[in-house]
Amino acid sequence: MGGTEKKYVDEAFATNWIAPLGPNVNGFEKAIREQLGNEAYVAALSSGTAAIHLGLELLGVGKGDEVICQSFTFSASANPILYLGAEPVFVDSESDTWNLSPSLLRSAIEDRIKNHKKPKAIIAVHLYGMPYKVNEIRAIADEFQIPILEDSAEALGSTYEGNACGTFGDIGILSFNGNKIITTSGGGALVSKNKNYTDKAIFLATQARDDAPHYQHSHIGYNYRMSNVLAGIGRGQMEVLEERVAARRANHKFYEEALASFSEIDFLQEPEGYFSNRWLSCILTPSFEIRERLRLALLEENIESRPLWKPLHLQPIFSDHAQFMDGTSQVLFERGLCLPSGSNLSQEDLEYVVATIKNVLS
Ligand SMILES: *Cc1c(COP(=O)(O)O)cnc(C)c1O
Repeated sequence: MGGTEKKYVDEAFATNWIAPLGPNVNGFEKAIREQLGNEAYVAALSSGTAAIHLGLELLGVGKGDEVICQSFTFSASANPILYLGAEPVFVDSESDTWNLSPSLLRSAIEDRIKNHKKPKAIIAVHLYGMPYKVNEIRAIADEFQIPILEDSAEALGSTYEGNACGTFGDIGILSFNGNKIITTSGGGALVSKNKNYTDKAIFLATQARDDAPHYQHSHIGYNYRMSNVLAGIGRGQMEVLEERVAARRANHKFYEEALASFSEIDFLQEPEGYFSNRWLSCILTPSFEIRERLRLALLEENIESRPLWKPLHLQPIFSDHAQFMDGTSQVLFERGLCLPSGSNLSQEDLEYVVATIKNVLS
């Protein structure tokens, strides 16, 4: 926590505003909107996953439809496709940003149109906070007139050509889960330049109650709104977002500089115009064996590190679905490692991690 969260939570208690909705929800949405450069409207929800679920529904995804999804991501990016009875089509990453490959995206769309039917939406992810190739992906989406669901769960505070991640999709989503760069302990948001989408998201997220004196329903609703207590935490967290981004970027810079003499260790670079919040500091090793040796040596010192996300097309639950791959994400999974990345790591912690890695490599 940053410090002022408790003040906002106390306000909720003092005013007895414990029910969902209330001043903290409005204040949190306003703070997010400002962070996004006032470029989008915001609906605070109970999780990022709930935001993806509502987002896909608002983009018209339903039973039997196909949705293209970046394979190299956390399972929550794709699970809501299945909630809606739709079919994921997985597409591999490129190696400049580790995100959705424009050329494979094009192949996938052309193949599905030729053989079957046009995908209803494209889920593109800013993984680890690194923006995807926004202009290239947007050009393809526009050419085929397919909307983008922008999964910005890991990229709050990242920008592309000066604009905030979250504002590039027809619908964007954010997450405030406990592991993200800022947190409400659990929470998310749906954001869009189109106010119809955020208005409809709020309607669906509050049980889709029609405008009537009694309880009247003409849509299936959800209970997906953020609570006013948790939004209080969010308001305090928004005040320290910039600090947190600086701390995460400093971690990455430290690792990169400290390991610069080991040419076999690669770091993902920011291409021109890209600004990553460096949510997690990741390295790429030359082989699975070396990755595992590093991971186990760190573990031996009580330092937790983790392999990169396992691509969804390799997950038992998703492996039956259509896929357009060139092997990029599988290599990242086999050779990549997320190093300790918390915003509160001390200089001593960072040096300890680096010393342990250097021991293995030399
Ligand atoms: C965390 C995460 C989500 C889901 O967000 P929750 O708030 O945990 O439901 C979705 N996509 C990605 C890429 C994530 O990292």
